[in-house]
This record gives sequence, structure tokens and C-alpha cells, in this order.
Amino acid sequence: MLKIGSHVSFSDKGLVSAANEAASYGSTSFMIYTGAPQNTRRKPMETMNIEEGLKLMEQNGVSEIVVHAPYIVNLGSYKNHTYELGVSFLQEEIRRTHAIGTKQIVLHPGAFTDKDVEYGIERIAAGLTEVLSGVAETDVNIALETMAGKGTEVGRSFEEIARIIEKVPNNERLTICMDTCHIHDAGYDVAGDFDGVLKKFDDVIGLDRLAVMHINDSKNPVGAGKDRHTPIGSGWIGFDAIDKVVNHSSLSHLPFILETPWIGKDVKTQRPMYEIEIALLRGNVGERFGAGFAEDVEKLHAFFAKRDIDPRAFTLDVWSVLKNDAKAKKADPREPLERLYDLALEASVLPNASEEDLNKRLIAVLAGKEALARF
Ligand code: FE
Ligand code: FE
Ligand code: ZN
Repeated sequence: MLKIGSHVSFSDKGLVSAANEAASYGSTSFMIYTGAPQNTRRKPMETMNIEEGLKLMEQNGVSEIVVHAPYIVNLGSYKNHTYELGVSFLQEEIRRTHAIGTKQIVLHPGAFTDKDVEYGIERIAAGLTEVLSGVAETDVNIALETMAGKGTEVGRSFEEIARIIEKVPNNERLTICMDTCHIHDAGYDVAGDFDGVLKKFDDVIGLDRLAVMHINDSKNPVGAGKDRHTPIGSGWIGFDAIDKVVNHSSLSHLPFILETPWIGKDVKTQRPMYEIEIALLRGNVGERFGAGFAEDVEKLHAFFAKRDIDPRAFTLDVWSVLKNDAKAKKADPREPLERLYDLALEASVLPNASEEDLNKRLIAVLAGKEALARF
């Protein structure tokens, strides 16, 4: 069965909270940070309800989950303090990952800051070597994440990642997390030629290293080097391309993790779109949302058609305007999904739908009319 889920919270009741949140989205996998992604404060693992959480996971049919290391770990840093903190904290994170029984910890390789990419590759490889030598008692792999190439990030190409791996002597515990938004932003044509991208990956790194998929759409066109995630279908990659990734025959053994932003006009009431994103990709929308959902989506399709709006084309047009026309952006900074929401709201297409409900239906609209057939 397809292993798919999202980033969920590990705070409060630890693995129990995470497993329950994942179940509420209809997930068959999920990803956690063991604490805040931005800092190294961690609660003792004894308080994380591992056993109870694992039981819940089993009941819910979740067999494989993923841990993500915090962003503050930078093995590429020339500053000894940063580098050493990165090494020791990553080792602790690996022990925590092991305690949960998870095999993959996703890591952003690092950033070279004031040095250059050569320095970064060397330094990261040295850091990984050190990290792995200190956690031989665990069987956790470090999944290096493919990066978008913003700032001085290392790992913006398959070649950079391959060179890191090459320089680590015992590199059998280095795997890869492929992020669709990141590789698209880095210049790989996920939308137009994913088979070509996979072929390239296989040539440079080897498909056998691929262990985790992050599935995110992108607010920017291919090669933009930005790293701004958006819900599936609401960005430049599009539903069809991501559907192809998720249901690709050579990737069927991997966990697919959504890291798409929560949606809503007010930051305080923003809600995740994970449940509908997962259902669209799994093909069980009817089961999750009931028969009325398809009717709602058809109403929205009909409404946009009457207005002569193709939601997908509209979305890409708005992204282009926001990117290329500063004046127009200043006059109306709303992103495509929010504009579609406002249009549907003003015309009361679904008068009884909450903001969250309407947004979920709009995500289904952006998956295209063909997706309706597999609800
Ligand atoms: Fe990441
Ligand atoms: Fe990611
Ligand atoms: Zn990202």
C-alpha cells in the first residue's frame, strides 16, 4: 500500500499525538521533528509515549515514519562551534530516532556561508563521517535532502550530493530524501520529465539510495532556486506531475511526506490541506469526505467555467504576475488559491462551507476534472 502522510507535531504527547494527528488526515506514514525545528531543546524520550504511539501506528496501518533533523544543524559551517554542535546534536537526534524504531533521519546537508561549495562539500563529508562513527550502535540512516539552492545551500544538484557521499568512507548509511519542490526549484524538470529526472538521479547517485520522498508543490517556476512550498496543485509543478511521482512504479516502496503550508486568510485560523491532498493522491476522496464532496467540486468547476476561468491556468498566471510585476503585486498581493477562494466566496458557490471546507474543495478543483473520476 502507498505510504503517504505529512509532517505532524511530536509535541504534547509525543508519538501518541503524532500518530493521532496523522490518522486524522488518513495517513499511512508521517514525519516528525523530535522538537522545535529551529532549536536544540528536547524533552526526555521517556515522556514521548513511544510504545503507545507505536501501537496506535500499527492499528492505523502505519509501518514506516521519518524523522527530520532540525535546521540549526549545519555541518557545512567553518565555525568550529556550529560544526561541533551540529555533530553532537545530530548524534543525539539519531539516538532518539533509533529509540522510536525509525530508520531514516532527514538532514539538510548544510550551507557553506562565507566559504565556497568545495569547502562545504569537504566539511559536510567530514561531519557526516564523524557523526556516523559515533552512532555505530544504531541502525539509523542519514537521508541527505536534495536542496533548492537558495543562499549557500549545498546539495542543489545530484552531483553535489554524490560528491559528499563519495567522501564519506563508510557511506552505506547515507541515503537520500528527494524533495519535489526543491529539485524543481533547483532546475530539474519534475513537471515535464520526471522519468528523465529519475534516470539522472540513478546515473549520478543511484536509485538504491533513495529512501524518502518529500512531496510539495512550488510557488516558483523551475530553476528559480527559491524553496517556497505550496499545496499540491496550487504551484508550478501541478497535481498531475506530483501524482505521477507518488504513483511511480520504481518508488512504490518509499514513504511520501507532504510539507505543504497550512491555508487560511488569518494566520491564527490556517488549516492543513493534508487530508484532501492525501485522499486525492490515494484515490479515496469519496471514502474520506463523502459523496457530497464531488458535487461541491463539480459546482466549483461549473462556476469557474461560467466565469471563463481555467483554475490551473489562472493559478500559473497569478504566480507569474506576482513574480514579474511588482506594481501589480503591490496592488493585489493575494496568492492564486486565495483569489480563487475569494471569487467562490463572493459568489456564494458553496454557501454553507467553512473557509477550511472551501479551501479543501478548491485543492480538489486544482487537481483537475480528470481527478473527479477517481474520487
Ligand atoms: Fe527538509
Ligand atoms: Fe523537504
Ligand atoms: Zn523546502
